[in-house]
Amino acid sequence: NSTASSAASGTDTHCPYCALQCGMTLIPLPDSNETHAATRAGVEVAERPSFPVNRGALCGKGRTAPAVLARQARLTQPLVRRRSSDELEPATWEEALDLVATALDQTRITHGPDAVGVFGGGGLTNEKAYALGKFARLALGTSQIDYNGRFCMSSAAAAGTRAFGVDRGLPFPLSDVARTGCLILVGSNPAETMPPAMRYLKELRDGGGTLIVVDPRRTRTAKQATLHLAPRPGTDLALALGLLHLVVAEGRLDQDFIDSRTTGWTEAHSAAMAYRPDLVEHITGVSERELRQAVRLFCDPEHAMVLTARGPEQQSNGTDAVSAWINLCLATGRAGRPLSGYGCLTGQGNGQGGREHGQKADQLPGYRKLDDPLARAHVARVWGVDAETLPGPGRSAYELLDALGGDIRTLLLMGSNPVVSGPSAAHVEQRLRALDFLAVCDVVLSESAQHADVVLPVAQWAEETGTTTNLEGRVLLRRKAADPPAGVRTDLDVLNGLAARLGWEQSFPTDAEEVFSELGRASAGGPADYSGITYARIAAEDGVFWPCPEGGAEPAETGTAAGAEAGACTAGTPRLFLDRFATPDGRARFVAVMHRPTAEEPDADYPLRLTTGRVQAQYQSGAQTRRVDALNKAAPGPFVELHPRLALQLGAESGDRLAIVSRRGRAVAPARVTRGIRPDTVFMPFHWYGEGRANTLTNPALDPTSRMPEFKTCAVRIELAAPV
Ligand code: SF4
Repeated sequence: NSTASSAASGTDTHCPYCALQCGMTLIPLPDSNETHAATRAGVEVAERPSFPVNRGALCGKGRTAPAVLARQARLTQPLVRRRSSDELEPATWEEALDLVATALDQTRITHGPDAVGVFGGGGLTNEKAYALGKFARLALGTSQIDYNGRFCMSSAAAAGTRAFGVDRGLPFPLSDVARTGCLILVGSNPAETMPPAMRYLKELRDGGGTLIVVDPRRTRTAKQATLHLAPRPGTDLALALGLLHLVVAEGRLDQDFIDSRTTGWTEAHSAAMAYRPDLVEHITGVSERELRQAVRLFCDPEHAMVLTARGPEQQSNGTDAVSAWINLCLATGRAGRPLSGYGCLTGQGNGQGGREHGQKADQLPGYRKLDDPLARAHVARVWGVDAETLPGPGRSAYELLDALGGDIRTLLLMGSNPVVSGPSAAHVEQRLRALDFLAVCDVVLSESAQHADVVLPVAQWAEETGTTTNLEGRVLLRRKAADPPAGVRTDLDVLNGLAARLGWEQSFPTDAEEVFSELGRASAGGPADYSGITYARIAAEDGVFWPCPEGGAEPAETGTAAGAEAGACTAGTPRLFLDRFATPDGRARFVAVMHRPTAEEPDADYPLRLTTGRVQAQYQSGAQTRRVDALNKAAPGPFVELHPRLALQLGAESGDRLAIVSRRGRAVAPARVTRGIRPDTVFMPFHWYGEGRANTLTNPALDPTSRMPEFKTCAVRIELAAPV
């Protein structure tokens, strides 16, 4: 059929992990049998050079992805916690679904619909994210739904929306990065998080462009930079303000662009004028000489870009920090033009699509606002209900987790492991335990699932077909390439089964293509319009950029230079904002922002800053990657990175066990002494549970706009821990 793989001997699909969504082909293994199936998936990965984003390159996670399909660590039958033993024990699907539906219903009846919470994930396909949001608002009638993507890119989304009128991670194809003149990467480490993207940075430098990396650590990405700026964690906002101050002082403004395509410059200009280089050096630790060099590198070429990631975003001032970087782009005319602009490097596999289709607390499908009467009326029409019946906005992710066992008595958790990935994770774990009832849909018994009353084993990735939207806004088809283990069902089956028990069966189809078609209708006319996208069209074009309205230009840029430059995939809208921004008046908006300290500055008791991040061989909470032997060998456990000066003060060497202590808890991991980190900062990766769980330490202080927790910096002290 029209959506079948183009490869004769395998199935063309995409990686299960990060937002790059690398193309790959899955080839069936000839000797696949039940014995092998315990440890192998029956497919192996082959490169797919025709997919334009990664052009065949894969990181270790992508190459070993079939291992997550193996049945060894999989859940293959529902589990129910029996009162008699307080243990999770095997159950039938009928019993498990009955128990979950009864708990959801009883909670609604006893405590009201908002006593039921739903928590989703940025790895869920578009179809699942859409169905989960619809299930919460339609079948459960609850406003209490959010997802772990709130912990990922919500600050960038909020800042992008208020500046440009819409948030699409990259408003241009990633390949544009290779041809810009200067790229500032702020708090991003693609050498670890999405290695195939590094080829674009190499092409940039090979073509004479320059790379500025802003990161408190001298990461593998920072080592490739023309200029590495290492500010104190939590001071990215002040750094961007200082650069804008110098842009003005050195006469580098693009006044024509400011006058013709923006609003709000007067206020943003006034705010930035307070940030003299000496003040910025005092706040950030970045010298005036480095600031001036950065301005020169950024302003000299015709084209330049800023890309942010979790570094500046996961702060209690994250939205304003991103706004400050966007202001820098606008003031220099680096937006709404080819090969220039601002973008966010989204992290999770469907981080972009996951935030567009209604599992976010304040949103309806198509990136519509839940409190917009026209949006409510449109979606209610598609769902066949009265708009009055749809609940309003709910709590953000951390606030929802914090309310578990309080206002929220029952939780449905799908595709997330907040016991490892949430801020102040021991507190989150305690809140999960306080629930009356917890139902978890997952492929493995994650640390969060271990607290469940019912665990529903579901299919994943290559075991089912669905769409994702990568960090460029390119909608992709992940095709089924292997059968799921006997005994598991898809998430769409689960929602259908629960909906049937709650009287809504007809509203929750189990066929992904049918759900996608409905999603398209629900998104029609919204900022993220998918109504012109079909599975057949994605298959034919190997991806379609939104917005792509039904009956709209097809493909939008075909036959133009811009379209050709976007690579093979020109369907939809590869580049946004070339003529106008998505604001009512078509102009981008400056937002006047000021630096403010982090929620928890170092003091006498906690004199250091902790920052957290990822390593190449693990992914997010590690629920999948910690079960892959090759990845565990490459990255077997957590560690504490610290500067030699700090190590000397402590009397510690690499390998010694260190305890990091914050106001929320304690984590222990071996030391890694390196000159590649500021002496006032320590770093831990966050993929693990147990004594090395980094998120035990992190601070749930929230950004007032995006409600993003301040993962990227908190105050800690460090001690030698007893040897094991
Ligand atoms: Fe998968 Fe991301 Fe690695 Fe590509 S970079 S192979 S999408 S984990």
